[in-house]
Amino acid sequence: MRVIDLTHPLTNSIPVYFPWHPKTELVKTASFTEHRCEVTQVTIGTHSGTHIDAPSHVLEGMPTLDQYDPGLWYVDAQVLDFTPRESRKEITAREIASKLGTKGIGIVVKTGWDKHFGEEDYYKTYPPLSNEAAEFLVESDIRLLAADTPFTLDVHYILLKRGIPLVTNLNNTAQLREGMIKLISAPLLIRGGDGAPARVLAIVEEQRA
Ligand SMILES: [Zn+2]
Repeated sequence: MRVIDLTHPLTNSIPVYFPWHPKTELVKTASFTEHRCEVTQVTIGTHSGTHIDAPSHVLEGMPTLDQYDPGLWYVDAQVLDFTPRESRKEITAREIASKLGTKGIGIVVKTGWDKHFGEEDYYKTYPPLSNEAAEFLVESDIRLLAADTPFTLDVHYILLKRGIPLVTNLNNTAQLREGMIKLISAPLLIRGGDGAPARVLAIVEEQRA
């Protein structure tokens, strides 16, 4: 068994892509010389870096992230590999259908776009999931949807109105092979959270040499 970290690290330079998302800041508020310890103040938006979206992010009155059973943050998931992928090339329902196995599990969409995270045009260049593909996933009773990309606003509505959380901006998906994994996606427990930064881990069976 091997654990793969699918999380972008939090740093002072983590980018945000919309002006209404706060800048991420890490500031030391205690130092060894003055206080004999170190403490850091962390300022971060609920939708920065690797994070999870709750329905209340785009739908007023819908569930917040803290209302979910924590069992959802440890699920069987299938990695669907779409690499190599051209910029802006939509992932279609047909492509998803050709790969999807079992219903009722988590899904990890691998495009390889995590290596562009931090670039200025990341939100303009990533290969998005099509609306039809999102509808198909909803009809397949998936429990949560994760990807190494952002999601379009339409895809937000399609999944979140059905209560399916979105795990956004995964990292290190090159280390994932197509097939089944255990997916841990643990969001910070924020009361009434419309989303939260998350530590996302894949647990994979060790591959035989
Ligand atoms: Zn979000």
